[in-house]
Amino acid sequence: MSRRSTILVAFFLTSVSVAVEANTPIPAPISQDPQAGRAASTARSPNDPAAAPFRDSQYWPQGYYPGDPIPDHTIYLTFDDGPCDFTAQILDILKEEDVHATFFMNSYDKDDPFHADTGKNLMFRYADVLRRMVDEGHAIGNHSYSHRDLARLSPRQIDFQLSTLQRQLTEVLGDKTPRIYLIRPPFGSPWLGNWNTMEQREKVRIAVERRGLVMLWTPGWDSSDSADWAKGEWYNASVRRYEPGSPSYESKMRREVKRILGRADGIAGGIILMHDTHPTSRDVLKSLIEELKRRGYGFGTLEDYCRWRWGPNVFDRFTPIPSLMATPPDGPSP
Ligand SMILES: [Zn+2]
Repeated sequence: MSRRSTILVAFFLTSVSVAVEANTPIPAPISQDPQAGRAASTARSPNDPAAAPFRDSQYWPQGYYPGDPIPDHTIYLTFDDGPCDFTAQILDILKEEDVHATFFMNSYDKDDPFHADTGKNLMFRYADVLRRMVDEGHAIGNHSYSHRDLARLSPRQIDFQLSTLQRQLTEVLGDKTPRIYLIRPPFGSPWLGNWNTMEQREKVRIAVERRGLVMLWTPGWDSSDSADWAKGEWYNASVRRYEPGSPSYESKMRREVKRILGRADGIAGGIILMHDTHPTSRDVLKSLIEELKRRGYGFGTLEDYCRWRWGPNVFDRFTPIPSLMATPPDGPSP
């Protein structure tokens, strides 16, 4: 980040901080008494796992959806659409700050129409970055092979989108390959928005639920209205639409910080959606983390979240699907 950008962000953080403090009642400290504490914190956020709204499991597989409980004082940073040129720098910042995050990845850039060009396959191109992710304790999630809207695919195509990413990750990482239990369908589809039919939800649910848990993000705790992903602003290797240091770039950084910190009252937690494909997300990250820490937040991966919500054995029921096994079914146990 340029010095000017740093100063700008620092100034903005102060402004947001003041604005939030001016408009938000100072939260009362949570009592140490378990009953009182539960009552106090439930009023601010539905942090009791039993408080999850009812959803028909025929259409909504197990997972995190908007409105679900989140532990107080906890932030889950998530980065979608990578790996890309900026991911290693994001890992550097996370390491400096001793924070673990979750990366929902694709094998191909959604803007790249030539999915058959293996030279452009992100899993292979950024193999070193993937190794670092695992070594440094981050969680990896499945964001589909080529960022397709699963609701519009056939069951066979959905299966391909979800299984190929895990298989290619295995080819890249070998023995180090983690099992992927976290799935974030591109666009949150078919569970976000009201344009998808129940039939589409059931179709995708069948493909998803045997592989892992659906992990969406907390409304408002995202960089989306900051236009992190908005059309025309995302990073493209061949067209750099936003030049670091330009007024539009810095305006985008300010929008991103405002969007996220505007929700950070120091108590209510959230799953933050960012994109490692955006240099603005890289450039605001350090300041964001430091401000969130200053407000009393801790950080975790979405695997930590699943264990908090459903218990330490939450992933045990997912048995490897034969085509996803690291070794052949008759070989040594993966
Ligand atoms: Zn995405």
